[in-house]
Amino acid sequence: MLSRAIDHDQTPTHPDLAVIGNGAIGLAIAIEYRRRQPDATVVVIGPTTRPGSASMAAGIMVAAHAELEAGTLTHPAGRAKFEIIRAAVEHWPAWLEELTAIAGIEPPLLRRGTVVLDNPNVSDFDASNFDAILKGLDDDDAPFERLDPADISGYRPSPHLRASRAIRIENDGAADAFAVMDLLDRAATKLGVHRIDARVESITDAVIRLEDGRSIRAATTVIACGAASDPLIQGIPELTGRVPRVLYGTGVGLRCRMSDPTTLPDTVLRTPNRGAGLGVYYVPSTDGRFYLGATNVVSMVPREHPRLGSLHLVLQSAMDEISPELRHAECRTVTGHRPITEDGHPLLGATSIPGLWIATGTRRDGVTAAPEIATRLVNEILDDGVRLPDALRPERRPVSTLDREAGIELAVRSRVIGPRTLDASTSGRRLEDTVRRHVERLYDRAGLSSGVPAELLDAYADGHLHAADLVPVSFSK
Ligand SMILES: Cc1cc2nc3c(=O)[nH]c(=O)nc-3n(C[C@H](O)[C@H](O)[C@H](O)COP(=O)(O)OP(=O)(O)OC[C@H]3O[C@@H](n4cnc5c(N)ncnc54)[C@H](O)[C@@H]3O)c2cc1C
Repeated sequence: MLSRAIDHDQTPTHPDLAVIGNGAIGLAIAIEYRRRQPDATVVVIGPTTRPGSASMAAGIMVAAHAELEAGTLTHPAGRAKFEIIRAAVEHWPAWLEELTAIAGIEPPLLRRGTVVLDNPNVSDFDASNFDAILKGLDDDDAPFERLDPADISGYRPSPHLRASRAIRIENDGAADAFAVMDLLDRAATKLGVHRIDARVESITDAVIRLEDGRSIRAATTVIACGAASDPLIQGIPELTGRVPRVLYGTGVGLRCRMSDPTTLPDTVLRTPNRGAGLGVYYVPSTDGRFYLGATNVVSMVPREHPRLGSLHLVLQSAMDEISPELRHAECRTVTGHRPITEDGHPLLGATSIPGLWIATGTRRDGVTAAPEIATRLVNEILDDGVRLPDALRPERRPVSTLDREAGIELAVRSRVIGPRTLDASTSGRRLEDTVRRHVERLYDRAGLSSGVPAELLDAYADGHLHAADLVPVSFSK
């Protein structure tokens, strides 16, 4: 079964499994496979410096219920993804323990508990998405506590931007991205996973060609190189046009430190998701370190740097909605590209090409989902255990899960987020009317008769994505 060919520089040329991409998803899959098949030859291909890796830029919130939005559970793809991240969040403590036992290092801190704030004075998304979170917690009988926002330690928003409601979700939490990636790297090394410091140029007839001229033929190949997966997938003639496109959701977070953190919150604080902009969040770590996230601008090509406007929104939200004390912190930015598909739903599972699998499109939850995606994908490869959901299979038409009116509403709300300093009865409404007319024009220009995720509207209006490709699915309100 196992092939042992090794080329002159010790690179296995005929491994049992080749994983393309060395982010959280690729490494988690390689580790899981090797643990279950200790005699297998496994290679992970990806540049050691990981330029643009989303996993290295992430918060990382390890959250399921806090990610719920009004409408998430009304269609099969949304439900399928939620089930994966809910199972993953449960799996995380044991996963970290198993990996640290393999790597022989101390486990990274997994901070449990996340405070979610409902701030209707900033975003029209907050109240409805906060209600969706409450409903999800109730339905799952998941532990949470209602808080008086005034009692949250270190939470000092501007008086007119104080949250109207707050809850603490027991099981949602956070970890440090660098520590988790370091653990994955070490566990992979200890397990004897081969690492190839290179980029893949193409995959043709089961041959993986590297940009440096080498080639590899694996029994099983998994494409898991995040936002950069698109050219590889679309470059395979049998898959061209059969798999939804993957775009770059450029996100910038801030890794910060304060010498005196006593005035800062000591818990993960976040808003509900806020459409295209994704909301603001604060993740404390140790020694006065914390993370602030994050921007989101979607494009067909990678953007190296954040837009000033979206960075401004994160900074303003953090200082106005969480605490002005944050302004004393010293910060550096981290930039990564979230893999976002043209319908917003992940691509997970086998393709019609024997031995070729895809695991990407995880948008803002990929690190959280990594252990569960890895387990289920390897289950499928080995034909053993719970499988990946059919609704997220890679070879499918992109689905639209919103009607046109709901899509327009989503885009309008995403574009008018910000503290309500305007008189809502006059100038505020005029601004919203202007934005609505603009959004309707974009919908017309794109020829959209159904709704698309707000962050993707420009890509449709600019003709990079095509309304005709979308399949409207039936959904319940
Ligand atoms: C600012 C920000 C904040 C986020 N916050 C969170 C969060 O709080 N919680 C959460 O769960 N998720 C979060 N996410 C999303 C999460 O980071 C992604 O969903 C996840 O990291 C995707 O993992 P990946 O392994 O698919 O991709 P990546 O981490 O991007 O890894 C892909 C790897 O493939 C390599 N590669 C690229 N092209 C090639 C090629 N041709 N050949 C070989 N290798 C290649 C890249 O160098 C990279 O190292 C955030 C993302 C960003 C950007």
